Amino acid sequence: MTKLRRFSLTAYQAPLCETIVDCPEPTGSEVLVRVERCGVCHSDLHMQDGFFALGEGKTLDVREGRTLPFTLGHEIAGVVERIGPGADAKIGAQILGKKVAVYPWIGCGACAACKAGEENLCNNNRHLGISADGGFASHVLVPHPRYLIDYAPLSPSFAGALMCSGLTAYSALKRLTAHAARGPALLVGLGGVGMMGLGIARALFPQPPIVADIDAAKREAALKAGAAAAFDPADREARRALIKSTGGGVFAACDFVGSEKSLAFAAGALAKGGKVAVTGLLGGNFPLPATMFVLKAMTVEGTLTGTLEEANELMALARAGKLKPLPIEERPLSQAQSALDDLRGGRVVGRVVLVA
Ligand SMILES: [Zn+2]
Ligand SMILES: [Zn+2]
Repeated sequence: MTKLRRFSLTAYQAPLCETIVDCPEPTGSEVLVRVERCGVCHSDLHMQDGFFALGEGKTLDVREGRTLPFTLGHEIAGVVERIGPGADAKIGAQILGKKVAVYPWIGCGACAACKAGEENLCNNNRHLGISADGGFASHVLVPHPRYLIDYAPLSPSFAGALMCSGLTAYSALKRLTAHAARGPALLVGLGGVGMMGLGIARALFPQPPIVADIDAAKREAALKAGAAAAFDPADREARRALIKSTGGGVFAACDFVGSEKSLAFAAGALAKGGKVAVTGLLGGNFPLPATMFVLKAMTVEGTLTGTLEEANELMALARAGKLKPLPIEERPLSQAQSALDDLRGGRVVGRVVLVA
């Protein structure tokens, strides 16, 4: 019998352990994917900790809903190895042996969110690497072939990264499309998701975006990648200069950081009728007088990853050559823990992707 080799969480706030078990046989419509690549994401750190930071020392416990040992990893690309007996035979024959990216934000299929196509917002979900075993492993079970997405001619590492960091940025920016038609959008925070967002904004919006980051090297990289202008939000004059340069502020802003300072900067840069989409999870409060929502007719909207439909749209955009791949560093699966450590220590540029 094939063995499943995986690097699993056996306790919270403890290093991942290699655990080897019998490889599960797909049942029903399930598909067994042999993992080729799995990206390492900031959410993996929160899962390993068992909590999200909310700011001011408060935390949100996320240990519920999974049994240990549990396998992290949700930016998966691999090869379809086996098909369950309940899967459509014709589709099964077509996908067997195919190289695919795996959409990980899989819902129950029965709740209101799932029925509306928003499986990423399902409360009773089977999100891979979050509430069902994920891709820091030799194999992963996927409930249905419809979650598998062709990615040729992209690299498997880039294809996997698109399923979380790329999708998060795409889904957030899509919500700003109407607002970004009125002027350049503002992107705050140029980490992995933010840099991916810059490429997506250039593909989706009529004007190149303005960016903001406290790191001068990141601002420089963003200008090279086509940003119209770059501001340092730590500079007290930045907000005024931005508002002046845009003739009264931006209509669309995306906060890829999600801290008190980043959201205050994004919201403070809005023109009347403007909107901020928030995707970052750094943590912090956002104090704003309720009156300002009215007087500025402003919207603050949170987004969480993206839908299967959006994942397919984003993949089509990338396959058409409209997105530049982010810098990727590949490491063997056995280095999963050191990859997490480096991410936590801020020593990662772009994405670290594990090679199974
Ligand atoms: Zn992620
Ligand atoms: Zn559901």
